[in-house]
Amino acid sequence: MPLGEFGLIGRYFQCAALEQAGGHAKVALGIGDDAALLDPAPGCHWVISTDSLVQGVHFPDHYSPDDLGYRALAVAVSDLAAMAAAPLGFTLALTLPRVDELWLQGFSAGLAACAAEHRISLIGGDTTRGPLNIGVTVFGEVLQGRALRRSGARAGDLLCVGGPLGEGAAGLAVVLGQDLPATLTGSERDYLTSRFWRPRAQCELGAALAGVATAGLDISDGLLQDAGHLARASGLALHLRTTGLPHSPALQAWPAALQLDWMLRGGDDYVLLFTLPPEQAALLERWREQGWAVSVIGEAAVGEGVWLDQQPVGGADGYQHFKESTHD
Ligand code: ADP
Ligand code: MG
Repeated sequence: MPLGEFGLIGRYFQCAALEQAGGHAKVALGIGDDAALLDPAPGCHWVISTDSLVQGVHFPDHYSPDDLGYRALAVAVSDLAAMAAAPLGFTLALTLPRVDELWLQGFSAGLAACAAEHRISLIGGDTTRGPLNIGVTVFGEVLQGRALRRSGARAGDLLCVGGPLGEGAAGLAVVLGQDLPATLTGSERDYLTSRFWRPRAQCELGAALAGVATAGLDISDGLLQDAGHLARASGLALHLRTTGLPHSPALQAWPAALQLDWMLRGGDDYVLLFTLPPEQAALLERWREQGWAVSVIGEAAVGEGVWLDQQPVGGADGYQHFKESTHD
């Protein structure tokens, strides 16, 4: 007999690997009732964010369900990291064309792997039939006054990124098999594939930035476009230097101009972009010692817009839905 809606939920989602991934007592009631109950710590804000994944837009047609499960949660958790929040729980709105148990097994295993890494529990969701669509809502907490917002940067602050840029875009090129250079090695290919499918949400770095960085966000749609959001929200200009951009050695097989384009405009990197008062610069060295590849790529100044090597760059220079000519 085919598995019905409730059998499916029970077998693949109402399981310890997902329900208890958080390992903390802040989930008072999880899957099984009409709604979940969460207990954030006193003095904390709730931090809530939703992401949808649509086949053909957010992920290509050929994929492993395991990777898809991981990625669906990782990109949502990245928004918590970008607010300096600690993950607590998430809900899953899943629309499936049919019940495919092999698919569900892989998907829930990938989801559980990411949930375990970030200690975040699945607390509920919805399951319906229709074209494949994955909606994840994440819930986190942050001490009041400590959230990392897009506004708040000040003239003179250092503009920093939390890791190398362009790996997400190169990863997508590898996943799609687009014009791959002959010199691309097997290990570069594997590394970049995993950077696309299994991005690492920078929660620990985000937590370290709380109360220290003046503004921040996660780079999902390309450095220039996301820097534009931060500049606008903070009401100042951001000056970037090409020479300061963190190159990824994994991109070396591609022409230099394409590497630069991916670093500036490629999406899917999910590293944090943040502003740091210059008197906090010593923290950068400490964070590097902790293994976070942070680097200074420019600074904030009086004015507006994003500037690269003293030239103004367009604000909408990255991926946008509902836009005729997008870079993807
Ligand atoms: P209701 O009809 O009251 O909205 P449902 O019958 O849709 O509830 O769901 C029953 C329980 O299963 C709820 O606790 C819900 O949160 C949970 N649930 C449904 N789908 C999923 C899913 N894909 N992942 C996790 N939990 C789910
Ligand atoms: Mg109900």
